[in-house]
Amino acid sequence: MATWQCVKQCGACCQLDPGDRPDLEAYLSEDELALYLSLIGPDGWCIHFDSENRECQIYPDRPSFCRVEADSFERMFGIQPEELNDFAIECCRQQIEGVYGDRSLELMRFNRAVGI
Ligand code: SF4
Ligand code: SF4
Repeated sequence: MATWQCVKQCGACCQLDPGDRPDLEAYLSEDELALYLSLIGPDGWCIHFDSENRECQIYPDRPSFCRVEADSFERMFGIQPEELNDFAIECCRQQIEGVYGDRSLELMRFNRAVGI
């Protein structure tokens, strides 16, 4: 069975361009949406994303909507804890495909890491 994990040197979910996430208002509260929008840099990447090392610079303090955790996914998407693994894998795959492409090294690395 595939098991979700975040892979290093990815960062696809730190590309925050709202044009690629048209349903933000459906799952973020008003405050979260304001925070989300405040994080978007001119190139669409989060202002806290270290593009050289592809790492979050505020990882321990990152917002709840950046966390792949049961309570945040249940609150945002209505996903039950037992559904989190498969849902998170699909979210990452979609995001990685959208940012780096469906034949990208990043997607290959993710698939290998989670066991697809
Ligand atoms: S898209 Fe998934 S694997 Fe890539 S950085 Fe985000 S959580 Fe990690
Ligand atoms: S706060 Fe960190 S994890 Fe969240 S989008 Fe920005 S760089 Fe990525």
